[in-house]
Amino acid sequence: MIKAYKFRTYLDKEQIQNLESTLNACRELYNAMLQQRIYAYRMGKKVTRYSQVNEIPEVKKAFPEFNNIHSQVIQEVPVRLDKAYDNFYGRVDKKNNGKNIKAGFPRFKSRKRYNSITYPQSGFKILENGHILASKIGEIRMFMHRPVDGRIRTLTFKRNGAGEWYAIITAGDPDKEQTVEDHFSILNENMNPTGYDVGLKSLITDSNGEHTEAPQYFRKSEERLVRANRNLSRKKKYSKNWKKANHRLSRVYRKTVRQRDDYSNKLSRNIASRNKLIVFEALNIQGMVRNHHLAKSIADASWYDIIRKTTYKAESAGNIVLLVDPGNTSKMCSKCGNIKKDLKLSDRVYNCDVCGLTIDRDENAAINIKNRGLLLFLYVYVYLHKHFKKVGRGTPEFTPVEIGALPARATPRHRSRKPTALVMGGCHYGDVY
Ligand SMILES: [Zn+2]
Repeated sequence: MIKAYKFRTYLDKEQIQNLESTLNACRELYNAMLQQRIYAYRMGKKVTRYSQVNEIPEVKKAFPEFNNIHSQVIQEVPVRLDKAYDNFYGRVDKKNNGKNIKAGFPRFKSRKRYNSITYPQSGFKILENGHILASKIGEIRMFMHRPVDGRIRTLTFKRNGAGEWYAIITAGDPDKEQTVEDHFSILNENMNPTGYDVGLKSLITDSNGEHTEAPQYFRKSEERLVRANRNLSRKKKYSKNWKKANHRLSRVYRKTVRQRDDYSNKLSRNIASRNKLIVFEALNIQGMVRNHHLAKSIADASWYDIIRKTTYKAESAGNIVLLVDPGNTSKMCSKCGNIKKDLKLSDRVYNCDVCGLTIDRDENAAINIKNRGLLLFLYVYVYLHKHFKKVGRGTPEFTPVEIGALPARATPRHRSRKPTALVMGGCHYGDVY
């Protein structure tokens, strides 16, 4: 597993200046390369990363400041552009498949949006005193609060909103590809399938009825964030006080993000190690980003973070995470499949009019999520086992599987629902509809 380690750095003035000017030069290069690709496209020609890398010596002749930047750092710029294009095409595909998203062509980057430089292979070294020696930048003081495991791969210097610089080191070895047999073998074990419902009332409720509340400090940071934000909005834009308030906001924000990060690491470790088959709802991330209500967006980000972290932690523990269709998980009775249309958000207890089940609202949802996951798992594994010997990264997108991700007791109307995207142990198996 390749992990990223983030360390705070302590730079002197000259180093900051050096990093800032490197960053700026890379940004200019990025924008120029994007411009070149756009022009070439309009003229019916194709510009690739390789051709752009080959032109770098010419760029250096014309702009000598690039000689002050490590060559691999420069070469990594068109790699980013490639990634931006790949993401763009990915979104176009999704859009063509009917997802309601913007395709969003790669942007020209402003100073605010270009925040990091990367040494993709070499040109840097971790010193015995825990500092880092980076070519063309010099020795950088760094606080290495935890050891780095495995082979060191890349070094990135990243600037945050408050203008602080961090060193991000990736290290480790790629996982060996999991085979269908690997995944299939858990069928013979005690799978202990567990569904998790995420909500505003309880942060997480599992299908055994266990609630996990969000820690108190979440609420407090939330309030602080709202206040800092309000404070900023009262100031005249770009005035001295506005800048101060902006700085304060990014500090509060940073603290909130760190708290969330720390907490979601602990919670996700717990979930990922406890169960073989872990099921969440596929949350609508697009919709989340769009909502402007701050408290809500923080909660959304926490859930998303917990799910993401659980997924990769489960993967390295050999467990499986599935994401299922979120439709009606709250309204459906987990015992008889009846759908209670008039269930309100304020109803904390689910009372089924048909079978008489009385159960905690979130627990009911978590059981529905578990049932859907189990069914999806069985269907998909039978399918995968039949068609593919090996799954994992680099496996071609799967063709649609016609399944309904529902418990067997579901009503026929419900059975026609489309199941949603599926993630297993971190491998995306494509949309399974
Ligand atoms: Zn019922």
